[in-house]
Amino acid sequence: MTYSRKNIQALAGYAPGEQPKDRRYIKLNTNENPYPPSPAVKKALDDFDLKQLKLYPDPTAEELRSIAGSLFGFSKNCTLIGNGSDDILTIVMRTFVDQGGRVACFEPSYSLYPVLTGIQGASITRICLDDNFNIPKDALKQAEGCPLFFIARPNAPTGNAFPREQMHEICRNFKGIILIDEAYADFSEDNCMDFVAKYPNVIISRTLSKSYSLAGVRLGIAVASEELISEMMKVKDSYNVNMLTQIVAAAALKDTGWMKKNRDKVILTRERLKTALEQRNFNVLPSQTNFLFTAPPENAAELHTKLKAEGILVRYFSGKRTGNYLRITIGTDEEVNSLLEALNKINAE
Ligand SMILES: *Cc1c(COP(=O)(O)O)cnc(C)c1O
Repeated sequence: MTYSRKNIQALAGYAPGEQPKDRRYIKLNTNENPYPPSPAVKKALDDFDLKQLKLYPDPTAEELRSIAGSLFGFSKNCTLIGNGSDDILTIVMRTFVDQGGRVACFEPSYSLYPVLTGIQGASITRICLDDNFNIPKDALKQAEGCPLFFIARPNAPTGNAFPREQMHEICRNFKGIILIDEAYADFSEDNCMDFVAKYPNVIISRTLSKSYSLAGVRLGIAVASEELISEMMKVKDSYNVNMLTQIVAAAALKDTGWMKKNRDKVILTRERLKTALEQRNFNVLPSQTNFLFTAPPENAAELHTKLKAEGILVRYFSGKRTGNYLRITIGTDEEVNSLLEALNKINAE
């Protein structure tokens, strides 16, 4: 233990949602998409010549960056590909934050931000969201002096998308880099991709893990000015995205129709589940994502355990702000029906 750096010793490490193997569960705990990826992905893998694997992948993923760039309306030089968007977040941290520096994020938000900050040997400034999980008025003041501000929009685990007007105000006035983590943007009514052309200090990150049903392949995309991207390019691992992932991701990004069809189904199910939970006296926050953040009428931690015993996994985050809530990923209609039946059963006990 004493061999590791002090900041690593002090670190708890990121706690991923559980992936238990002891029995079959309905998994509504890690915001995976319940629907399969595009058939174009299968075709790309079927057509792949295995002999290619003896070669290194394209280090800068040129084809994929062109596809991603044109999808979002930017040149390929304004994009960078990562081994999941978590890799993008790491690259951003290493590019823009000194050891001993300070990083801002909201609380509650994605719990990886403080972990990455700790690994870098920097300290975290947690800016508490207000009672409705919106941005507090003095957020800019609290973040002042930080070289990096992580903002998940829509936010996780709360599911809301901060008003674009507030995002404009922060991006216009903040002196450091703002990483807008748009992992859930495809499920949202709007996004901030257009900010990249407007603000030289904004980086947008996207992922294929949620809306494209490809959490297993690990593919994230950063979009920012050429100047920021070329700095980040120096920091990334040389071959950070493997050949199979590049091929799969290219096929998936060319079939946005498939993603949108599944996205629409998820949103319909989300609204149906919201209504059904409200009928059971849950307080359900409005969601712009593929999950609901909801306070049950009973103890949330206990309900999480009871649901697990019924074979249904949802996510529980302890703590003052989040401890009364469960985060429930939107599954298929059948999975959501099973959840509702389990709630009825638990309620009747
Ligand atoms: C799921 C998630 C990610 C991680 O995405 P990967 O591409 O799978 O690494 C990033 N940010 C937020 C807010 C997420 O919920």
